[in-house]
Amino acid sequence: MDFSFTEEQTMIREMTHKFVAKEVKPLADQIDGEGRIPTELIKKISEQGFLGIYFPEEYGGAGAGEIGYCIMLEEFSRACASTTTFIGAHESIGTMAIYLDGTEEQKRKYLPPLCSGEKIAAFAITEPEAGSDAANIKSTAVLEGDHYLLNGTKTYISNGGIADIVTTFALTDRGISAFIVETDSPGFKVVREEEKMGIKGTSTAELLFEGLRVPQENLLGRPGAGFITAMKTLDVGRLSLAAGCLGASKELLDMSIDYSKQRVQFGQPIAQQQAIQWMLADMSTEISAMESFVYHAAWLCDQGKRISRIAAEAKLFCSEALDRIVDRAMQIHGGLGYMKKYPVERFYRDSRINRIFEGTNEIQRLVIARNLLKRGRK
Ligand SMILES: Cc1cc2nc3c(=O)[nH]c(=O)nc-3n(C[C@H](O)[C@H](O)[C@H](O)COP(=O)(O)OP(=O)(O)OC[C@H]3O[C@@H](n4cnc5c(N)ncnc54)[C@H](O)[C@@H]3O)c2cc1C
Repeated sequence: MDFSFTEEQTMIREMTHKFVAKEVKPLADQIDGEGRIPTELIKKISEQGFLGIYFPEEYGGAGAGEIGYCIMLEEFSRACASTTTFIGAHESIGTMAIYLDGTEEQKRKYLPPLCSGEKIAAFAITEPEAGSDAANIKSTAVLEGDHYLLNGTKTYISNGGIADIVTTFALTDRGISAFIVETDSPGFKVVREEEKMGIKGTSTAELLFEGLRVPQENLLGRPGAGFITAMKTLDVGRLSLAAGCLGASKELLDMSIDYSKQRVQFGQPIAQQQAIQWMLADMSTEISAMESFVYHAAWLCDQGKRISRIAAEAKLFCSEALDRIVDRAMQIHGGLGYMKKYPVERFYRDSRINRIFEGTNEIQRLVIARNLLKRGRK
């Protein structure tokens, strides 16, 4: 593996960094406070091509693959976890499922408007009785003529309240199947938006399918192979989530270095205290490990290699490392870190979700162990 970024990847970082500094960072507190991402910002993000950066140009994307995508997410997560989650739900999982298992016709129809941001995607597998045990879904899909009729409830769906396209999963007579749902179809309902501890600007909604009519041609992948589609998609989603944890961690370290150099106690900057230096050193060490982890896994992903184990490991390690890093950042900032007027408080609330969504960390450990017991570290 070559660890250096290409010229194009370096450009993605610079371009995203500039955009985020100008357009996202100044709005991050407002997004958190108002619980929504302004439509104008979504428009600007779309216009820059960020919502399809991963996907090949022939489908309207920028062809940056997983490495380019992780670089972009890292930069967004330095400013605003709500916006990063919005992009992740749309691109890493909602659109990704169609890219990975869609027919050529489905990809030509759905990917261009999703890559341009003309349409927004969500990915809906979780149900009230099927969280960690995602194979236990109860939603059903029955073929009647040339349409499937879907019935069921999906819960905690990121972008659920704003999506135009939802990739979802329901039980058919052949087992769990995946479907592409257009949310203006009869029988699709947004039941409610959830109020949350963090990532408050991202829509998290409960969805109801009540005799939802889905054309037969919107079956995604083979009938009965929907769970495989979900798991393949989540492999990419988990890795991308790890990249978000890396970006947030870098920002927290930068803030902590700056603050510790400025804050004077006992007649000298607190950065002179070994206790503070050790926290900074530990933060940086974990960031180096996260960085190698994320980009090694992203490189494997772009090589078309199997990434289930390493993506689960990256999600597990990076989300737990971020929790340690945000905790140290708050400690270094003392009382100021706990105040709403300073961003560490928002990062602290926003970080916690990473150990829960896209499969809890307990489930990541199960995935890793199952892979190890089946095929070792291959
Ligand atoms: C903000 C937010 C956004 C989300 N976005 C989406 C989305 O876009 N799409 C979507 O489909 N879902 C989404 N989810 C759902 C998320 O993936 C689930 O919440 C998660 O998988 C856990 O399921 P659960 O909440 O039902 O917890 P449970 O499955 O009830 O788990 C409760 C606890 O038991 C543990 N546990 C369960 N089974 C085991 C086991 N076998 N071994 C060890 N421990 C176990 C869990 O790790 C956890 O600690 C989102 C959730 C949140 C909170």
